[in-house]
Amino acid sequence: DLHPVRRALLSVSDKTGLIDLAKALAARGIELVSTGGTAKAMREAGLTVRDVAELTGFPEMMDGRVKTLHPAVHGGLLALRDNAEHTGAMAEHGIAEIDLLVVNLYPFEATVAKGADYSEAIENIDIGGPAMIRAAAKNHGFVNVVVDTEDYQPLLDELAAHDGATSYAFRQRLALNAYARTGAYDAAVSSWMAKALNEPAPRRRVVAGTLAQTLRYGENPHQAAAFYTDGTSRSGVATAEQHQGKELSYNNINDTDAAFELVSEFAPGDGAACAIIKHANPCGVARGATLEEAYRRAFDCDRTSAFGGIIALNQPLDGPTAEAIAEIFTEVVIAPGADEAARQVFAAKKNLRLLTTDGLSDPAAGGLTLRQVSGGFLVQDRDNGRVGEWELKTVTKREPTKDELRDLLFAWTVAKHVKSNAIVYVKDGATVGVGAGQMSRVDSTRIAARKSQDMAEVLGLPAPLTQGAVVASDAFFPFPDGLLTAAEAGATAVIQPGGSMRDDKVIEAADAAGLAMVFTGMRHFRH
Ligand code: 5GP
Repeated sequence: DLHPVRRALLSVSDKTGLIDLAKALAARGIELVSTGGTAKAMREAGLTVRDVAELTGFPEMMDGRVKTLHPAVHGGLLALRDNAEHTGAMAEHGIAEIDLLVVNLYPFEATVAKGADYSEAIENIDIGGPAMIRAAAKNHGFVNVVVDTEDYQPLLDELAAHDGATSYAFRQRLALNAYARTGAYDAAVSSWMAKALNEPAPRRRVVAGTLAQTLRYGENPHQAAAFYTDGTSRSGVATAEQHQGKELSYNNINDTDAAFELVSEFAPGDGAACAIIKHANPCGVARGATLEEAYRRAFDCDRTSAFGGIIALNQPLDGPTAEAIAEIFTEVVIAPGADEAARQVFAAKKNLRLLTTDGLSDPAAGGLTLRQVSGGFLVQDRDNGRVGEWELKTVTKREPTKDELRDLLFAWTVAKHVKSNAIVYVKDGATVGVGAGQMSRVDSTRIAARKSQDMAEVLGLPAPLTQGAVVASDAFFPFPDGLLTAAEAGATAVIQPGGSMRDDKVIEAADAAGLAMVFTGMRHFRH
């Protein structure tokens, strides 16, 4: 896949680094072809250059609006070198191959940033440059396209490494950059025009995706909505197969995603796990000896909230679990498979949607998350952070016991999937109280304990299950009060990132209450 570079077309507005590059190319015996200003600069440096006008047989005209827009240029960039018809056309029309295109565009962005008037801005819209870039990038099977002065040196390094040729992988990377550049260029033109015409910015596609489903409505009935897939996940809500039930709604998709991403944290080989989600927050997450037990224990965390919830399982759904789930109204069940017995149980439940996936989603996967704000959007890495047991630092006099440690890690994993401020109480591999989305950490701690108390009444237990439980906090306790609230609720061990200015006070309070506390050194805000 190596392809030698014999002829280069250089046409650059920003002449930085041009002469050094051109000299290095000439030293390799590469023929240089160029447009007016670029050719002039190279000649002044003593280089031999062919004018593009000589190639096209046309002078540059119309104030430079038409310089390179000609079959002699575009044919030389686009012809497939291994296609007889293409090479035949080249021969017939005297078109020379162009193996390397170096272009940087008219400085449209800089021109408008300087406050240029309308006609000056229009004159600075490059036409031939983007056309050549797109042509060369399309033909990256043979042609190299450089659109950034920063890529001059890597190009020379590549040529040096392959004796004057470049590899396919290298040309592919160049092409990818090239399309990003022309895309951004036209976006800049469109934004400028919107501003100049005092129009709101045109509706642009902020995500590159494929329309999967036009939704009945969005989060609320007065909002139009659609679901796009972007091909970044092989097992998740976007690729799941729906076996029965109505079409998924906007909120269903959002909540099903939250449920499946959470349950996917628990490898099926480590035992069954179940997560029940309401409004994107878990109201019960549990492990179990069987899937049914995991479901029942998750359900017992907060039976009231679980009604109409979304259930995700980390193992294929079986008959007994399906029977248990069918006891109350559930919107969606998602699992990596479902056996025949389970499907039969659900068949009678017309409103329940059953989704199956091909395995779990990968919690360690990279990727980006997007969030829109007024006038733009935020992009960040996916939160794929995880802490192992060996990374925990015990900061109290008492070390957590083995059972506590296991529950602490479980609670920490769940807390990652709870909206901040997140407080999660866990006992014996099941959440027993979840406090989500509060503006104060103390409130989250109280609410979680309070919910556990309510459940104790429902279940007829002598004491809430927070007694003897462990607790996770998604970010540090800024003061001892939150921690003391957890201790009052009966928590015996704490997991939190640490890193507060007053960590020493919090540790002191933990020691005084006889708690074991570990720091993760990692935070899991989720807003
Ligand atoms: P030069 O300084 O060499 O005269 O012009 C270089 C600039 O012209 C580059 O920014 C290149 O993108 C642009 N360019 C090359 N061909 C054409 C064309 O046919 N039309 C327009 N408008 N610009 C071109």
